[in-house]
Amino acid sequence: MKLILLGAPGAGKGTQAKRLEEAYGIVQLSTGDMLRAEVASGSDIGKELKAVMEAGNLVTDDLIISMIASRVEQDDCKKGYILDGFPRTTAQAEALDKMLEDKGQKLDEVIEMVVDEDALVERITGRYTCADCGQGYHDSFQKPAKEGVCDKCGSGEFSRRADDNEETVRSRLVSYREQTAPIAEHYKAKGMLKTVDGMADIDEVTNQLKKILG
Ligand code: ADP
Ligand code: ADP
Ligand code: ZN
Repeated sequence: MKLILLGAPGAGKGTQAKRLEEAYGIVQLSTGDMLRAEVASGSDIGKELKAVMEAGNLVTDDLIISMIASRVEQDDCKKGYILDGFPRTTAQAEALDKMLEDKGQKLDEVIEMVVDEDALVERITGRYTCADCGQGYHDSFQKPAKEGVCDKCGSGEFSRRADDNEETVRSRLVSYREQTAPIAEHYKAKGMLKTVDGMADIDEVTNQLKKILG
């Protein structure tokens, strides 16, 4: 199964992708996570990426496209994957079409998670993750059962993304409206676009996605 989760920053793509990974035995391919790993490595490219990401801008299509092209060749993608944060521009969507066509493969679903803009800002500014296992949390909407302890792995170490501050969020939302939102039309024109109500609570969104995926 190959699917795309579309949606603005904070729409809940990562949260749902992790649940679908477990439910369907497919892997989450988050371009944001891949880029953050490159930044954390301290490489020269990482240093350039860090500046672009902290300004809330998109990194170049060429870099992202080659990153995804080599990632989908890896063994763990054989059973399928969930694209989270890619494609983010029309050029990326077209490159993905071509890449799949060359391999004789097809996307199964493209699902957009629709969330109000005010809710996005609130979600992003309250977001944090377990530093050890990557489980996602939120200050108000998704707290660990025991305060300060990760539900999944018991760790007490958490981290917040450098770009999850209100100022950067505003530029990320502008990038989204201008460069990413038009992608929905790309898939709509192919008759492939489905939507779920991303304002519903986390379990309800998972149910809506599973209804589509079967
Ligand atoms: P994205 O990957 O689309 O940027 P995330 O999955 O990281 O978004 O979610 C952003 C924040 O919102 C996280 O802190 C997460 O816990 C919270 N969140 C995700 N889905 C929901 C939801 N349906 N209702 C309320 N909060 C949510
Ligand atoms: P979110 O969905 O919460 O906005 P991501 O983790 O997907 O965040 O992305 C974080 C940042 O990484 C983006 O603001 C952008 O700078 C960069 N990025 C991630 N994916 C892409 C992509 N496909 N094309 C260009 N830039 C990207
Ligand atoms: Zn953990």
